[in-house]
Amino acid sequence: MTNKPKRNDRHILVCNDDGIFAPGIRALAEVAAEFGKVSIIAPDTQQSAVGHAITVHYPLRVTDFEINDKLSGQAVSGTPADCVKLAHDQLLKQKPDIVLSGINHGSNAGINLLYSGTVSAATEGTILGYPSIAVSCTEFSESADLSGCQEAARRVLRYIIENGLPSGITLNVNAPAGPLKSLSWTRQARSRYVDEFEGRVDPSNRPYFWTTGTLEVLEEGDDLDLNVLKKGRGSVTPIQYDLTANDFFRKINGKIDLE
Ligand code: MN
Repeated sequence: MTNKPKRNDRHILVCNDDGIFAPGIRALAEVAAEFGKVSIIAPDTQQSAVGHAITVHYPLRVTDFEINDKLSGQAVSGTPADCVKLAHDQLLKQKPDIVLSGINHGSNAGINLLYSGTVSAATEGTILGYPSIAVSCTEFSESADLSGCQEAARRVLRYIIENGLPSGITLNVNAPAGPLKSLSWTRQARSRYVDEFEGRVDPSNRPYFWTTGTLEVLEEGDDLDLNVLKKGRGSVTPIQYDLTANDFFRKINGKIDLE
């Protein structure tokens, strides 16, 4: 659980996967600034759908970046997970109390959590021991109204400042563009992509493919993230990076001999 530093001592690290130039990170940093001192450390390029990748074959370069007259940060030539790791290990003099990632332009629900760089930045924060939140807007447009997502982030931030988070748990927040209608606790929907690629032919007659696809929900429930978002409402899913299949482990451990 978190200790509760006062507003003036509280330090919040803000990262994303759309890059430090994206409007969404500005919107999230503005909310973070209501709660404490903000450090923005984010990728210098668009890193959506890189998942939890880290950079091991190239050096990481860091550049100071002016976002506007109130906000500045550091741009890193790496992935979202690189940014949080580097911030923790090298760049921040004062360790953060909370790690935020987003606001992503595009939702991160269902199976998308696995592909998401936004969620991975927050998960990396959790791995390093910080209460961490990922925030995404269901709309891709960079001109989307993020006020409802900001309000969702504000409520969840307030919640973890008051209550902390058990270690190993990250909160994944999604909300539609526009004003926030409601915000509820959800489960990650079992889902998968169908019709994943569109094939075309280049001028030299060679085939090439674009990733497209639509999400198919594989279970039913009013408390699933994708279903709540479909109704135009906001969603908060507690997630964990421990991938052990615990039910199956309990079933086979000591019963199936592998010797
Ligand atoms: Mn993104």
